[in-house]
Amino acid sequence: MVELESLFKALDFAAQQHIFQRRKGSFNIPYINHPIRVSYLLIQCGETDVELLSAALLHDVIEDTQATAEEIASMFGEKVASIVSEVTDNMQLSKEDRKRLQIEKAPFLSRPAKLIKIADKACNMEDLIRYPIWWPKSRKIAYFQWAYAVFVHCKGLNPTLDKYFLDVYKRGLNLWNIEINE
Ligand code: ZN
Repeated sequence: MVELESLFKALDFAAQQHIFQRRKGSFNIPYINHPIRVSYLLIQCGETDVELLSAALLHDVIEDTQATAEEIASMFGEKVASIVSEVTDNMQLSKEDRKRLQIEKAPFLSRPAKLIKIADKACNMEDLIRYPIWWPKSRKIAYFQWAYAVFVHCKGLNPTLDKYFLDVYKRGLNLWNIEINE
C-alpha cells in the first residue's frame, strides 16, 4: 500500500509538472503519456522496485520542467533524485554535445538509470513508428542509430527489456528499408 502510494505520488507530481506540455508530433499527445509508458514497459519487463518505477515516472521532470533534484529528493528520497539526475541532460549544452555525452556516460550509469535509458529510447522509437511527426526519414533513422549506440552500453541487465528494444529497433529500420548491422 505504501509503495502504491509513493508510486502514485510520483505519477501525480509528474502529471502536474508536465501539465501544459505536449509530445513532439502532429497528434498533440499529452506529455505525461510518455513517462507512464516508460514505467509500464519496465513493469511489463518484470521490474518491481518502487524507486526505479518512481524515477521512471519522473525521468523527464528535471530536464523539461521547473522541478529540481532537491525538490525530488525532499519528496521521494535521495535515491530517486539521484536516478533522475543520472538520466537528465545538461540543457546548457548544445544538442550535439548532449547526444555525445549520453553515449559517453552510458557505461557508468547505475542499474536503474540504464534500465530507464533503454525503456525511454524504446518508447521514443515506438512513437516515431506509430505517430505522425514532421521529421524526415533521415532524422528518424539517425535517432534510431543514436538510441542504439546508447543501448549497447546499457543492455545486459534485463533480457526482456533488451529484446523489446531490439524488436522496436528492427521494426523501425525494416520500415525504412535500412540494413541492420548488430
Ligand atoms: Zn523520456
